[in-house]
Amino acid sequence: MKLLLVLPPVSQKKIINMTETASTFKAKSTIKAADLEHRRKINFNIGKYNEKVPEGKAQFANLSLAREHAKNIKWRAIETLDQQLEEFELHFTRRGGKVIWAENAAEAMEAILNICKERNCKTLVKSKSMVTEEIHLNAALEKNGIESIETDLGEYIQQLDGEAPYHIVTPAMHKSKEDVAKLFAEKLGTSPLLTPEQLTLVARDILRKKYVEAEVGVTGANFIISNIGAIAVTENEGNARLSCAFPKTHIAVVGIEKVIPSLSDLGLFWPLLSSYGTGQQMTVYNSIVTGPRQQGETDGPTEMFVILLDNGRTNILQDPRQRESLYCIRCGACLNACPVYKNIGGHAYGATYSGPIGSVITPNLAGLNDNKHLSFASSLCGACTDTCPVKINLHELLMENRYQSVQQGMTTFTEKMAWRLWKIASLKRSVMNLGNGSIKSTIVNTLFKGWKERRSDIEFSGKTFNEMWKERYGK
Ligand code: SF4
Repeated sequence: MKLLLVLPPVSQKKIINMTETASTFKAKSTIKAADLEHRRKINFNIGKYNEKVPEGKAQFANLSLAREHAKNIKWRAIETLDQQLEEFELHFTRRGGKVIWAENAAEAMEAILNICKERNCKTLVKSKSMVTEEIHLNAALEKNGIESIETDLGEYIQQLDGEAPYHIVTPAMHKSKEDVAKLFAEKLGTSPLLTPEQLTLVARDILRKKYVEAEVGVTGANFIISNIGAIAVTENEGNARLSCAFPKTHIAVVGIEKVIPSLSDLGLFWPLLSSYGTGQQMTVYNSIVTGPRQQGETDGPTEMFVILLDNGRTNILQDPRQRESLYCIRCGACLNACPVYKNIGGHAYGATYSGPIGSVITPNLAGLNDNKHLSFASSLCGACTDTCPVKINLHELLMENRYQSVQQGMTTFTEKMAWRLWKIASLKRSVMNLGNGSIKSTIVNTLFKGWKERRSDIEFSGKTFNEMWKERYGK
């Protein structure tokens, strides 16, 4: 895998009109923003999150310093990413683990399918992992006749419903307990009146059998710890631990940016992630996995693979301004703080990663031209930047994406003309004074049709600034 890639040339043909993904995003957002029931559920769940988070944060004597320290650690890790990853590989392989470097989703998928086929895998258990969503693992496994079961309860609910995760931490955040009971009744034949506890027991009963059946277990990793060659997984249900310990083969799929240099860094990152992710001081199960079962150990897989996935991350790495988006620890806090996310929800984005961080990285991971609209769908209020535990300047990175899209000519003819006229008029008072207020109003309101869809007409004053000045001061 190369750590510095050249950005692909932008397709000029595609630039001219709004892309399909942009128009779908707009249509979905418009529908969701008007869906009051959706907003009620989101506000309820984010409200509970907001109540809990201060409890988690209270454990830090100096939260700002802790965040600054975390940012510095990630800065160091990302600036020396090549060395960190090689160090991880060295230590991990010494204990019998195997590392696979995947430059893109196709390479990662090919590696996983090969491992599964060689082991005659029919059933695979999988814990929550956004990176496996990114490579569309479940769809590829299904196509190849392998049953893939999500073992995180939220992900299991989403899988039953045939939906992608709605949120990077709480995948079924948009569903009420009644929605889940109804879904279980439809798909599993249970009573639609089951309580959350009863629903959990139903899922647990089904999943426990799958752990035993599965030949392969797949997890993600919250962190790659380079100095000991391990991955760290944090979770609340114990399902990731079972997914990697029960099956004979464990595959961890991890984005290369997840590196932290040292085991001792976990002392900061685990509580930081849980405080900002769920408001807990620590999540319930925290595992450090250093490789397959060693001689004399009584449990664990007999073989373990770590797939280090690039899939566009080195594009981000090579841009010094965008690089800090790789510090993200996927806590989801910026989604919960974002007024846009709270209105349009996670699915409208049409991307694996939603909310502010998704709008920053998706254009860089999956192509600026097709995804630049995400960076424009922001009020730039800065709530995301304020809340981020690793102090990523999210709103500035959104601006950077916008800037780059303009620099690369990804704007419509109308927009280019509008700004050209604006510039000419702003630079010359005599041009600005041409025509009366009603002519200017007609021109501007016609040119900015898109802007006006949800706004009233712009009304220019009947008199020019010069005329008003003259009236007041007589010169
Ligand atoms: S950008 Fe920051 S707030 Fe958003 S998910 Fe990543 S770490 Fe959390």
